[in-house]
Amino acid sequence: MKVTEGLYAFLWNSPVENNCNAFLVRGGKNVLIDPGHRHLFRHVEEGLRRLGTDVSSVDLVIVTHGHPDHIEGLRMFRKPTLLAMGEEEYRFLLERGGGGATEFAPDIFLREGELTVGDLSFEVLLTPGHSPGSISLYWKDRKALFTGDVVFSKGIGRTDLPGGAGRKLRESIERLKGLDVEFLLPGHGETVRGREAVRRNFQFIEGYWYPHLR
Ligand SMILES: [Zn+2]
Repeated sequence: MKVTEGLYAFLWNSPVENNCNAFLVRGGKNVLIDPGHRHLFRHVEEGLRRLGTDVSSVDLVIVTHGHPDHIEGLRMFRKPTLLAMGEEEYRFLLERGGGGATEFAPDIFLREGELTVGDLSFEVLLTPGHSPGSISLYWKDRKALFTGDVVFSKGIGRTDLPGGAGRKLRESIERLKGLDVEFLLPGHGETVRGREAVRRNFQFIEGYWYPHLR
């Protein structure tokens, strides 16, 4: 599904199996965000195929955080495709998963600040709370915000998983709220489109979910 020029969403909407949404940014370089579960990777392959391309055209895969329903699909990529993950998140994966996490060793450690991929420029924001090293990605040229499992349409990420923290999630959401966003692209569920709809979504989260985040 085309979201806007150069931006495509492969939304996951099976009610019986959990997986994440994947997104493709096409510019001089192709960037895929959150490949999802390995055993459901056909979802991404199918999305790419419909655009007349395939995994070999992806230059960089970025994962928002290290949960299996977001990162397992990394196994389907081969060099020269590069992998990027939050530095803090990878450290957490290593601590928890021991040697097993090394198969996801990133080529690029994401830190707060600007990330340039060819002619594409993103802002990386550290947004912990759902997981300790979650990142969100802001593509200013399209006012598109990839939130992973920090913010959804009318919802927020769980804070009861290892390394989760309600107060931190709230601070992270507050940061995202300050951005100028036309397209809110969450890791699960529907996208939120239009500045006004995005504003109302943050307002709903503040009213409904903030009391639960402490
Ligand atoms: Zn998650």
